Amino acid sequence: MMESFDVLVLGGGAAGLMCAIEAGKRGRRVALLEHSERCGKKILISGGGRCNFTNLHCTPENFISANPHFAKSALARYTPADFISLVEKYRIPYHEKTLGQLFCDGSSREILNMLETECQAAGVRIFVNTAVAELIRTAEFVLRTASAEFRAPVLVVATGGLSIPKMGATSLGYDLAQQFGLKIQETRPALVPLVLNAEDRKGYCDLTGVSAGVAASCDGTTFREKMLFTHRGLSGPAILQISSYWKAGSPIHIDLAPDREVTAAFRDPKVPRTLTTLRAAFHESLPARFANRWLEINAPSPFNNRTLETLERRTHEWALTPAGTEGYEKAEVTAGGVDTGELSAQTMESRKVPGLFFIGEVVDVTGHLGGFNFQWAWASGACAGRAI
Ligand SMILES: Cc1cc2nc3c(=O)[nH]c(=O)nc-3n(C[C@H](O)[C@H](O)[C@H](O)COP(=O)(O)OP(=O)(O)OC[C@H]3O[C@@H](n4cnc5c(N)ncnc54)[C@H](O)[C@@H]3O)c2cc1C
Repeated sequence: MMESFDVLVLGGGAAGLMCAIEAGKRGRRVALLEHSERCGKKILISGGGRCNFTNLHCTPENFISANPHFAKSALARYTPADFISLVEKYRIPYHEKTLGQLFCDGSSREILNMLETECQAAGVRIFVNTAVAELIRTAEFVLRTASAEFRAPVLVVATGGLSIPKMGATSLGYDLAQQFGLKIQETRPALVPLVLNAEDRKGYCDLTGVSAGVAASCDGTTFREKMLFTHRGLSGPAILQISSYWKAGSPIHIDLAPDREVTAAFRDPKVPRTLTTLRAAFHESLPARFANRWLEINAPSPFNNRTLETLERRTHEWALTPAGTEGYEKAEVTAGGVDTGELSAQTMESRKVPGLFFIGEVVDVTGHLGGFNFQWAWASGACAGRAI
């Protein structure tokens, strides 16, 4: 079988579906090729099954990239309001959970159904179970699978990142970028739990399940959110966020009591300086089990002004050098990817290879936690789809 189209979109995830819809609406004959048995698997599992589909407070500062300006244009031309109006057109009930994060009231499936219905209306042909065996570029792009050949003058690569291989993630997007001579910013797991080094693990990992409100910092960036102990290290939104900035071998700093002076009461000479009163003071800022452990490890000895000051300082600057991350198996996204210097910020088209586009997570643009990664997928997908 040999079929010709105007556009081949490779990867039926968030970005690929949006791009196919926009190109199809403009009369392009679009084929969307997906190697899994269905499109949008990550949409289905996202946001705990409720899909945090965008964020009301989306700004370019919510994205990490070697070029922090690159995402601006696409984000300005396809905004959260654009996606929300699509969601409202389909009467999908949603709510703001926290910090501008919009989730479905019901299920992520409603978002995927909406995108698939839009694809159908735009005449997009979806080919699932379609694995690429070979891609070559002659006068047009020729994509071969085991049993078919697809041809088009435009190829959009929307194959996502490396996170969660068992959901269908592959390195194809990066491989194709390299095949066509495009630079790649080194990839790494992001929005991922951190694994503590052996000593810290011994000290804290039996606290699995305990969480505390902290401010986590790395490389000049701080997130004030919850931190959670796991059986191998740390997770929770504060840690997932900071993991995207963390580089192997460098420390992270955690303020366990942001904006509070935990030992302030001890300035009053009438307050007895005992472990019991100290514990009581820490219980006001931290969960009891963690506070007790913190004091076992960092107890002031002897109990005087100097050791209290040291304890206070440590509480605000807990320095940890993680042994690593939980890797792509547990990472929500992949940081790094196709170098933005290779792409037009308006259209996502390769500067070197006309007709070749990269969109979504495969590009070196990584959002913070909270609906920003889908907003990037929608925005980059829409910009490419409107330019094809
Ligand atoms: C557990 C989890 C929860 C998440 N929750 C949220 C959330 O609530 N909000 C948010 O903003 N972000 C969330 N994300 C991140 C978000 O899912 C991604 O950033 C987003 O899906 C990226 O879109 P994409 O289209 O670039 O890639 P993907 O959605 O990953 O789509 C890529 C598609 O390409 C296909 N593909 C891969 N290789 C090939 C190949 N060789 N041939 C053909 N097809 C191929 C894949 O099967 C997939 O369908 C979550 C991620 C995970 C893992």
